[in-house]
Amino acid sequence: MSRSPSKRGGNVTQRYRARRGEITPEMRFVAKREKADPEFVRSEVARGRAIIPANVNHLRHRLEPIIIGINFNCKINANIGNSATTSCLKDELRKVDMAVKYHADTVMDLSTGANLDDTRAAIVKHSRVPVGTVPIYGALSRVGKAEDLSPSLVLEEIEKQARQGVDYMTIHAGVLREHVSLTKKRLTGIVSRGGALLAQWMSAHGRQNFLYTHFEDICAIFKKYDVAFSLGDGLRPGSLHDANDEAQFAELKVLGDLTLKAWEHDVQVMIEGPGHVPLHLVQMNADLEQKWCHEAPFYTLGPIVTDVAPGYDHITSAIGGALIGWAGASMLCYVTPAEHLSLPDAEDVRQGCIAHKIAAHAADLARGRRGARDWDDAISKARYEFRWKDQFALAMDPSTAKKKHDATLPAESYKDARYCSMCGPEFCSMRLSRDAHKILKERETPLSLGTGKVSKAPRCKAAKNAVSPRKREPVSAR
Ligand code: SF4
Repeated sequence: MSRSPSKRGGNVTQRYRARRGEITPEMRFVAKREKADPEFVRSEVARGRAIIPANVNHLRHRLEPIIIGINFNCKINANIGNSATTSCLKDELRKVDMAVKYHADTVMDLSTGANLDDTRAAIVKHSRVPVGTVPIYGALSRVGKAEDLSPSLVLEEIEKQARQGVDYMTIHAGVLREHVSLTKKRLTGIVSRGGALLAQWMSAHGRQNFLYTHFEDICAIFKKYDVAFSLGDGLRPGSLHDANDEAQFAELKVLGDLTLKAWEHDVQVMIEGPGHVPLHLVQMNADLEQKWCHEAPFYTLGPIVTDVAPGYDHITSAIGGALIGWAGASMLCYVTPAEHLSLPDAEDVRQGCIAHKIAAHAADLARGRRGARDWDDAISKARYEFRWKDQFALAMDPSTAKKKHDATLPAESYKDARYCSMCGPEFCSMRLSRDAHKILKERETPLSLGTGKVSKAPRCKAAKNAVSPRKREPVSAR
């Protein structure tokens, strides 16, 4: 798969080609991955209900395209990137590998520290999953203060990153000047970095958000390289107190209008969502996004469903993620145990990915997505048949599953044992259940059809053996 950027204002986006009836190599690739019909993939991309973020300059490297949309498996994103206090390119590339190993479908480089251009270029080159960025961070690093940002500088930054091969960019174009005062009553103000920077710029200059006023200039860049919009939720709630408030939904409405504008240019769009939202208010977010943003894929941060568990926010977020995924979100942005506390390290990345992969898979199961249950049924069968090695191999995190098992029963012989250390040999309910079924099967009395006579019950060998199931266990396996 390799295409070239458009010269002289042409359009190379997947949406442009889908709307003209073309099934691209990227559409065929994702169709195979999702076990879907390529024509269905094309129609979903053409309709705007799915996107394939695949910058033509990333396709030249290692990119393996994915599709994000309500009718496909729920995806997860892992945020990586350095900060002003912690910065090492080797560590960032290690985080990319860790994220991909533990099921991340995309990574976002949210670096705000040193060497931003080199870090981004290295991540794009290294990553076989789509890469997203928030270009206003790069622009800010060039001027130092939000007030010194200018539309031309930000457009220049966006074009540079598009040229580097970034597949999707968070553009906070929906935060309008008139929305800022709506956040005054909030407990935690504006918690999105992009949203807060733009609020500061608009207040200082008394002007409208330049990402909104220059939106079509951004579309012109995006269609040259096929960069997808991730329309940012700059006014997402940062606490349960602020969830689903006027400011949040005012921005969401604007994102719906901008979606239509981007589609006029055949640029692909997904919509970012909250944030901190209690369980009972989650569904409303998915419903309004579908309605106001014309079914464009919903890409949500969590949501985190309680504010009281710093250190465990991968769990608070995965709970909300499962619920919003079930309600229709197409991609979940992970949250790590380091959220609100520090820059995540590689172990935080692993934990965040696993927690959100569980959430995304739970959503796939609940929505009845093709093939999702096969995985669960396969591992359940292996579990019931005491095929320990198969059980480890089928686990979402095989090495952790094996490590946990082997911590108490490490000998190789226990890989055939009909119990583990949780209940022990005498109380293993699965073994007792299997033995009970075996006895029942052997005692079954088939009716002799036609004669009206009942045949003699077969001799129950299993019952004899079942008196002491422990006897049948190899000594080595106890
Ligand atoms: S011992 Fe308990 S936990 Fe272990 S396999 Fe048997 S039923 Fe499952």
